[in-house]
Amino acid sequence: MASWIANMMGRGTATDPVCGMHVSKKNPRGGTHEHEGKTYYFCGPGCRAEFQEDPQGYRSGRKRMEM
Ligand SMILES: [Zn+2]
Repeated sequence: MASWIANMMGRGTATDPVCGMHVSKKNPRGGTHEHEGKTYYFCGPGCRAEFQEDPQGYRSGRKRMEM
């Protein structure tokens, strides 16, 4: 794993559960959504809307948006 990726993952970023992009926790462009006590961060409003439609599917990783 490249060090810059490790840095991104370790510090202040989260993975958008819908598209897999890294998103800043401080300023997520798509906002956040809380589900079962966990906060999810999104790259854009579209991803957040997708997640809200089927949080269980994305949470388990079984569902991914086709890019
Ligand atoms: Zn996204």
